[in-house]
Parts: sequence; C-alpha cells; structure tokens
Amino acid sequence: MSFYEDLNKAGIQIEEGKDLTSFSTMRLRSTGDLIVLKSVEEIVTFQKLAKSNQQAFGILGWGANQPLPERSTVPYIKLQLEFDKKIFDDVRDEYSLPASVSLATLTSAASRLCLSGWEVLSGIPASVGGAIAMNAGTALGEIAKLVVRVGLCDEDGNLKSLELCEKDFSYRRNNFLKKTDIIYQVTLKHYGVDKEVSTKIKNYLQYRNKTQPMNAWTCGCMFKNSVSEQKICRAGEYIDIMGLKGLRFKNLRISPVHANFLENLGDSTLEDVREFIRFIRGQLKGQFGIEFEPEIKI
Ligand SMILES: Cc1cc2nc3c(=O)[nH]c(=O)nc-3n(C[C@H](O)[C@H](O)[C@H](O)COP(=O)(O)OP(=O)(O)OC[C@H]3O[C@@H](n4cnc5c(N)ncnc54)[C@H](O)[C@@H]3O)c2cc1C
Repeated sequence: MSFYEDLNKAGIQIEEGKDLTSFSTMRLRSTGDLIVLKSVEEIVTFQKLAKSNQQAFGILGWGANQPLPERSTVPYIKLQLEFDKKIFDDVRDEYSLPASVSLATLTSAASRLCLSGWEVLSGIPASVGGAIAMNAGTALGEIAKLVVRVGLCDEDGNLKSLELCEKDFSYRRNNFLKKTDIIYQVTLKHYGVDKEVSTKIKNYLQYRNKTQPMNAWTCGCMFKNSVSEQKICRAGEYIDIMGLKGLRFKNLRISPVHANFLENLGDSTLEDVREFIRFIRGQLKGQFGIEFEPEIKI
C-alpha cells in the first residue's frame, strides 16, 4: 500500500496537486500535495507512516520564511491544532500554546495583559512553531528568551517534552530540532507585568511599517547579518551601499524600502529567486569580500 493510501485509511486527508501559492507570504507560483494535521494524534500517526514508507516531507508554518517550489516533489504538512483563546483571559506564569498559533495572536494578548518580554515578537509574521524553529526575533530580542519548553513528535512518532533555555538557540536557528521533528506545542514565560508593553509594541509596529515593506510579497530578510566578534555587518546596508535598492530581475525587486527584502511583484518562481539571490550574493562577495548566508529557506 502506498503512503497516501495508508494516510487515507488512517482518516488523514491529502490534497493532491494543490495550488500552494498563498501558503507562503512570498506568493511564488507553486503547486504540491498538502496534508493538514488537526490533532497531536494525527501528527503521531503521520510520523509513523512517513517513517515506515520512507517518505520525506516539508513542514509549513505561516510560510513567512519559505518561498515554495514551483512543483514540490514532497508533500507539505500544515498544522491546524485546536486553540482555546481563554488561556489569555488572565495573567499566568506560563502559557502552553499549540504550534500553529500565530505570533500576531500572542502580541495582541501581550498588549492587553501587559506581558513583559513578549514585545520581542512584534510584527513577525509566523506560527509559534515556525518562530521557534527559526529563533525569530527583532531588534528588541529573540523568542529564545521566552521559551520554557517545547513538545515535539519525532520521526518514530514519540512525543517528547524538551526543557529549553537561550543556549539551545543561536542567531535565527535552533540547536535541538532534527529535520523530521514536528513541534506541536510551545510553552512561553514572561518577565512580569509591565504597563509599558502595549506602547512598546505599538511604537515598534509603527517603526516597522515605516522601515520594512510589510505589505509586499516577501519572505522577510534575504540574508542573515554577518556576525563576528569584531562587528555586525548588516546585509541590507551593504546592498544599499552598492546602490541596488529597487533593482529588478524578471518580476522580482530588491525592496526600495529595505534593501534586505526581496519583493515578488507577481508570478515569480523559486528558480527566479535563487538566480537573483545568487547574483546579489556574488556582488556582495565581490565588492566587500563578505559571504552572506541566506536567511530565507531556498
Ligand atoms: C514581512 C516579513 C517580515 C519578517 N520579519 C522578521 C523579523 O523581524 N524577524 C524574524 O526573525 N523573522 C522575520 N521574518 C521571517 C519569518 O517571519 C520568520 O522566519 C518566522 O519564524 C517564520 O515562521 P513560519 O511559521 O512562517 O515558518 P515557515 O516559514 O513556514 O517555516 C520556517 C522553518 O520552520 C520549520 N517549521 C515550521 N513550523 C514547524 C513546526 N511546527 N515544527 C518544526 N519545524 C517547523 C519549517 O520546516 C522551516 O524550516 C519576516 C517575514 C516577513 C514576510
């Protein structure tokens, strides 16, 4: 029996040949097979069947860091786990959240409950699972400083609870997930109640809206900043110095608002993105001798 037949038999539905364009914030032209998992039990079943069928797969959060391929050769899973918003009725020491909850939901709760520390999540389009995988953060800090525990399902279908701290993360990456691990739950702490949190979030969102192309089709920053003991080299500043802001290649454009963002103006593909990024990376290396590592997953 094939993998899809096994999934069907277990009551898990597959949407074959689905238009996935809107499943990534960059809106690249994309089709592929989608498997939506709605409970932890379904995640466990999926993992066991993927292992026994030796089936590779991709994990989609908000797709805010993943430009998708034109025709995916592996299925994508997307989590749609039940979430009871009552958890944000009051201030608690910790919040255990399904991995599919959006950071926008968390910042809005933080603003209302004045949860100190949660302002670091302001304006990042992400699911909380994707944010943990990427150690998402802003100039105000990273999600690493809020994490207490992560619940994950490994490739054998075992559920594990990992107690974590900041050293389990580094810049825009985690140091504990295996490629096939699926995070299903995240527990976050805060640093007390601070009446200023809502103002901090509002001000930071205003700043972001002015300095980043928040309404364009992008996948966030193209390149990670290059961090060494001596200094931080910001990719956007170097692209700007080269005068490349606004440069177009096919239907892609280096954002005129922030040089480290690549905008899809319509109907671009992952191949176009790869080609353009290769060119920009080459220019950066040639002019400044710095090898910037892509931040978006290409
Ligand atoms: C306009 C814009 C602004 C942005 N600004 C920022 C910013 O300020 N700071 C920042 O850090 N990022 C920023 N980003 C990038 C993006 O928001 C982050 O990388 C975010 O963490 C991606 O989360 P996601 O849910 O979309 O994950 P995806 O992009 O869908 O996936 C990212 C990675 O996480 C893995 N993953 C997702 N969910 C799970 C799960 N449940 N279990 C295991 N692995 C999983 C995927 O396999 C993939 O490898 C921005 C993006 C956009 C479009």
